[in-house]
Amino acid sequence: MENATSDRPMFKATCSKCNKETTVPFEPKPGREVYCQDCYKEIRNSKPRRY
Ligand SMILES: [Zn+2]
Repeated sequence: MENATSDRPMFKATCSKCNKETTVPFEPKPGREVYCQDCYKEIRNSKPRRY
C-alpha cells in the first residue's frame, strides 16, 4: 500500500451555485447538489448553526 493518500479518485461535477466545473472527492449523485470549493466554503460559513 503505497501512495494511498496521494492519488484519491476525483470526480468531475458542475457546481450547483455558480455552474463552474469542479472536481469533488466523492461521486456526485443525481439530484444531489454539488458545490465548487468557493461556494462550498461560502455555504458552510453562511449556514445557520442548529442548536
Ligand atoms: Zn460554485
